[in-house]
Amino acid sequence: MFIMPTIARRIQHYGTTIFAEINRLAQQHQALDLGQGRPDFNSPQEVLNTVAETFRLGQMNQYAPGIGTPPLREAVAAHAARFYGLNIDPQNGVIVTSGASEGIFSSVMGIVNPGDEVIVIEPFFDIYVPCIEVAGGVPVYVPLLPPDWQLDRDVLKAAFSDKTRAIIVNSPNNPTGRMFSPDDQALIAELCVQYDVVCISDEVYEHIAYAGSVHRPMAALPGMFERTLTVSSAAKTFSATGWKIGWVYGAPDLIVGVWRIHQLVTYAVNHPTQAGAAYALALPDGYFDELGQLYARKRQLMLSALDGANLRYFAPEGAFYVMADFSAVFDGDNMAFVHHLLKEVGVAAIPPDTFYSDAHRPMANHYVRFAFCKADSTLIAAAEKLQKLARKL
Ligand code: PMP
Repeated sequence: MFIMPTIARRIQHYGTTIFAEINRLAQQHQALDLGQGRPDFNSPQEVLNTVAETFRLGQMNQYAPGIGTPPLREAVAAHAARFYGLNIDPQNGVIVTSGASEGIFSSVMGIVNPGDEVIVIEPFFDIYVPCIEVAGGVPVYVPLLPPDWQLDRDVLKAAFSDKTRAIIVNSPNNPTGRMFSPDDQALIAELCVQYDVVCISDEVYEHIAYAGSVHRPMAALPGMFERTLTVSSAAKTFSATGWKIGWVYGAPDLIVGVWRIHQLVTYAVNHPTQAGAAYALALPDGYFDELGQLYARKRQLMLSALDGANLRYFAPEGAFYVMADFSAVFDGDNMAFVHHLLKEVGVAAIPPDTFYSDAHRPMANHYVRFAFCKADSTLIAAAEKLQKLARKL
């Protein structure tokens, strides 16, 4: 008897990610790509040279140490000391992962027990919830309130209980561009301490902050170091999303959980690009300042483009995304607007539905996310195309 192959129930309901889908449509319509958070400019040349040299010499063609190369772990610790005054143990307090994505997966798998509740702030980076579900955890949602994506402090407080094992915090935030205020951070920390909760802090946009906003890691708040797993990566800080080099740092007692699963999922990650990431993390302060300035200019181009299109927005405080409210120029939901943008305007954007739970998805019905990690010429060309929207008024 022939038995049809079937895939596991736990992943049957996960479709193709929206990013792959929009990338495909953008190509099909030859639209300008303001969809995925994938810079279309290069990493610093001297960083590329470092990676090229390791390949040329064939020095790193074999497995890296499972927890990451010593130079990269030391660079992660030195970077956290230089920018945030944190004291990380490079031997027992850092795991190098396949991008922040695996860092998040391994953090969740490493600390969440079946039935544990994990608080997720919405809109969220789309992998958080599948990670929680695969670990057997139960997501508990706390939506940020549009139009300025404020945290409802009472809703946050009510989400915490004795069942809460972890909270995932992402600041600077994808997709809203919010950075949690010191008061927001203090409340999250207070609740984590009160309920003995682990904070998984996704800080991949740590060096992209605007208009006087300063990034402060959750691990730097009083009482938080011992209960925080901080996740970051080379992707956004060094415009190197293709390397898939990330890391998780924290107290050794928590990091051991990340390591247990990491060693079974990937064992070790790309060796030559770890050399590049170690070199890059040690670049002088000037590099990080210039990155901030580069994105400040791109943000301004993006916001002028939205002004010219009569799209409303909350000006991002950090990261390189903006959520645009299209209700003044288009009748219909966000998917219909994305198709309109692709076909009639020639610009790709992301509908934020996958960043929400079913219950809260309507909150973003008339929003789309634009990514502005793109060449200035692309942003200027997009501004011209987007003007079509305003002319329809
Ligand atoms: N977290 C957030 C908030 C992101 O936006 C992204 C990438 N878009 C990631 C994690 C994944 O990072 P990486 O490419 O290093 O896996």
